[in-house]
Amino acid sequence: MSDSVISAFDGLVAAAPPAASTPKLDTACVIGGSIAGLLAARVLSDHARRVVIIERDELPATGQSRPSVPQDHQVHTLLPAGHRWVERWLPGFTQEALDMGAVLADAGAGRVLTAFDGHPQAPSHADHHLLTCSRPFLEARIRARVLARPGVSLVRGRATGLSYRDGAVSAVSYTDGTAEHTLAADFVVDAMGRGSRLSEWISQDGYDKPALERLESPINYATALFERDVQFTDLDVPCALALCSPGAGPDGVSVAAANAVEDKQWLVMLMGYGDDRPGRTIDDFRAACAALLPVFAQATAGAVTRDIVTYHQAESRRRHFTGLGRFPARLVVVGDAVASFNPVYGQGMSSAALHGSCLSAYLAGDPDLTRPATDFFALQQLVVDAAWAVSAGGDSARLDALAGVEPPEDVRRQRWALQQVIGASIVDGSVACSFNDVSYMLRHPATLADPALLERAVAANQNLE
Ligand SMILES: Cc1cc2nc3c(=O)[nH]c(=O)nc-3n(C[C@H](O)[C@H](O)[C@H](O)COP(=O)(O)OP(=O)(O)OC[C@H]3O[C@@H](n4cnc5c(N)ncnc54)[C@H](O)[C@@H]3O)c2cc1C
Repeated sequence: MSDSVISAFDGLVAAAPPAASTPKLDTACVIGGSIAGLLAARVLSDHARRVVIIERDELPATGQSRPSVPQDHQVHTLLPAGHRWVERWLPGFTQEALDMGAVLADAGAGRVLTAFDGHPQAPSHADHHLLTCSRPFLEARIRARVLARPGVSLVRGRATGLSYRDGAVSAVSYTDGTAEHTLAADFVVDAMGRGSRLSEWISQDGYDKPALERLESPINYATALFERDVQFTDLDVPCALALCSPGAGPDGVSVAAANAVEDKQWLVMLMGYGDDRPGRTIDDFRAACAALLPVFAQATAGAVTRDIVTYHQAESRRRHFTGLGRFPARLVVVGDAVASFNPVYGQGMSSAALHGSCLSAYLAGDPDLTRPATDFFALQQLVVDAAWAVSAGGDSARLDALAGVEPPEDVRRQRWALQQVIGASIVDGSVACSFNDVSYMLRHPATLADPALLERAVAANQNLE
């Protein structure tokens, strides 16, 4: 992987919003008012006189679940890459969230526990912070702040299609259940999530349909909420992640997570692959947690405040928007509508934030809006490739192991190198820092192929033997 890819990714992570807004667009329309749509609307508020979000769900003012985001009962960890962008776009966001009961976990100081088969990672002393709260809480807080921006508004309705003028999108049609409406727009963002119908819309209208890539990744989540002990303090671990090798976790657990969240609760998740469905009852759930690590036993000791909610997803998906022959101008796609991964890697919301960073860079570059946004999609591909490499890389290794498939030599070498880094991260804080930089989407996965890092990891593992 070339250094230019790594530095372009670094640039997307570290960029800043423009100092002042310079509207070149009149009305920008974002279809879908979830995390990706809200962050895109925030970006567009720097470049358009008016930003209208069309969202089909009724949106609760406070953090409650809603029908079109069925995954929102599950643990959602906002990785540092996403968190930093949210704070940059919405200054004061973190403090407000903390005042309302969210928790900030200092991973560098060892307040985030990441354990591999029960062995905790060494503290990395890096500037890595994770904001822990429930997904509905996070979305409600982001929504309130984005809608408070001048010119940003939300209408309730289900988008049904696009209109075009001279090869560019010019309007969005939507229905509010009683009447059909048309919103004229000179820039449109599809943030309709994993089930987006945009590909069908544009192909019916004579444009190219992006290829859909799927990777089997059958995951079963079970998440419950528990009362948090009143004795819990800032010195306790508010965020824990346990990763288990195949067959090593209790009750078929492959991954478990416990996040201290608002309203003095613990949000605790167990995940199994394929036929493994850990935590069917609260007793099973607690027993599996007790067999994992003390923090999971502590997190599930209190009264149950919301019973187990399960979620199944069969595959990771990505749609390829680069290299299309005919695609409408003034149209981009962000968030899960582009790619949705195995969620255990926690990349979805931070990917959406980085897509927002791509959109910000694209619009700041004064693009030719009479042509398709190929520069945007090329930049975004960098982000999607990085997230896909982590998620699909892990899932392919599991599938190969299950099927007894021997991968090609280069893939074998990559997997061996990753195992060296993971193993060494238990004893070496510097290796843990490099690994977490990638896990937290702050750096491109290609940085893990650095020979100096690998040498250090191999030496640390040899000292362990
Ligand atoms: C089990 C699970 C756990 C996850 N855990 C994490 C995690 O720990 N960390 C993380 O970062 N990510 C996680 N994710 C991913 C995360 O949920 C998504 O990446 C995130 O919600 C961003 O998605 P989005 O905004 O693109 O789409 P969505 O959240 O799916 O929202 C799409 C929106 O579009 C609206 N919409 C759809 N069609 C229309 C239409 N025609 N008209 C108007 N509105 C429409 C919907 O109502 C909805 O509001 C997890 C996902 C799953 C499934």
